[in-house]
Amino acid sequence: MTRRNVALIAHDQKKDDMVAFARDHQAYLSGCDLIATGTTGGRIAAACPGLDIRRLKSGPLGGDQQIGALIAERAVDMVIFFVDPLTPMPHDVDVKALMRLAIVYDIPMALNRATAEILLRQERTGSSG
Ligand code: PGA
Repeated sequence: MTRRNVALIAHDQKKDDMVAFARDHQAYLSGCDLIATGTTGGRIAAACPGLDIRRLKSGPLGGDQQIGALIAERAVDMVIFFVDPLTPMPHDVDVKALMRLAIVYDIPMALNRATAEILLRQERTGSSG
């Protein structure tokens, strides 16, 4: 199977959840090319030193837009984005733009852990339907 380019992002209130998710799925993720927004990537790298993560800028400083640009270049196969729905954020427009590009390019995008689990289960079984 070809290596998958997986983007990982978590808002501040969801970073602990993302770290736990990455730990639980370290074996699968170690076979992927990982990119992440700055702080999320730092937290995952600290918890899972075996994972090689390309860290972009922090979300509020353009990291979400960088991932959006990579989607447009077809360099992202899957987005796992643990969104905090309860906190207003200055970069809300960037988050919306990233989601829009994932829709435009029809990239699988999980916005919570339940959906991320389904996506990875699908990846592991390799079934498409
Ligand atoms: P961060 O960015 O990983 O740098 O915190 C995520 C975001 O807030 O979009």
